[in-house]
Amino acid sequence: MPELPEVETIARGLNQRVAGDTVESVWLGEKPEPLKSPAKEIVAVLERSRIEQVRRVGKHIVFDLVRPSRNGRRPAATRAQWIVHLGMTGRMLIASPETEIEKHTHALLKLASGRELRFVDPRRFGRLAVVRMESKNGAGFVAPGDEPLQAQAERFVTLFRGRKTPIKSALLNQRLLSGVGNIYADESLFRAGIRPRRRASSLTRDELRKLHAAVQEVLREAIALGGSSVSDYVDAEGREGFFQLQHRVYGREGESCLVCRTPIKRVIIAGRSSHYCPRCQK
Ligand SMILES: [Zn+2]
Repeated sequence: MPELPEVETIARGLNQRVAGDTVESVWLGEKPEPLKSPAKEIVAVLERSRIEQVRRVGKHIVFDLVRPSRNGRRPAATRAQWIVHLGMTGRMLIASPETEIEKHTHALLKLASGRELRFVDPRRFGRLAVVRMESKNGAGFVAPGDEPLQAQAERFVTLFRGRKTPIKSALLNQRLLSGVGNIYADESLFRAGIRPRRRASSLTRDELRKLHAAVQEVLREAIALGGSSVSDYVDAEGREGFFQLQHRVYGREGESCLVCRTPIKRVIIAGRSSHYCPRCQK
């Protein structure tokens, strides 16, 4: 499942390649699951819209759209957004029209540049939605939690302080931080020296500040690594090319800790695997 750094990388890659292009027509598949807005509404919003920019909000890809008025009447233009969540297996492809349409393609946008933007998702956990922004200053799509790369240390401390749940569960709670998933939660806790099962309320202010720094460091490193292969991810062949973050604990159960050689442990917390070093993490 793509996590925040992957979604950031994909959004940046899409922005480089389709910002400024205009959607000429839209085809949507028959399967209802991927459509979070009515099909008619998605088509109505996307057709004839210019893609201003593509960016990440939480784990969503947001296309900021400008829609010209009909007949050139006022208001001159309206704003809207196309929101894509990749779910487990969703991919966005930029393809030439000659490229064979893959099985499990749920949306196909023809662009004025002659290319096509396709949404492919075999398992159909991905979601497509549109938001019309009635006023010029309309907020548009907002993720439920705080953006982890923008949250300041004090804000981070406030979010987690006093919570009775294990810190690992709190990190995964999308209403607190938006976009941190299982891998990056485990890696952040390792770097901060904190065991995943500890209650958030047992962490000192210093520990929370350390964790805040670790979360941002891990996410930034992963984005930097993913960024180098972005063109592969969205190319016509749909090759996936992420350089995975060098995991220090995630997926390394039984292997020796890279710092102290103690075997890495795996426990289940709130139904999710958690990996930690019993010596480095307190
Ligand atoms: Zn260790």
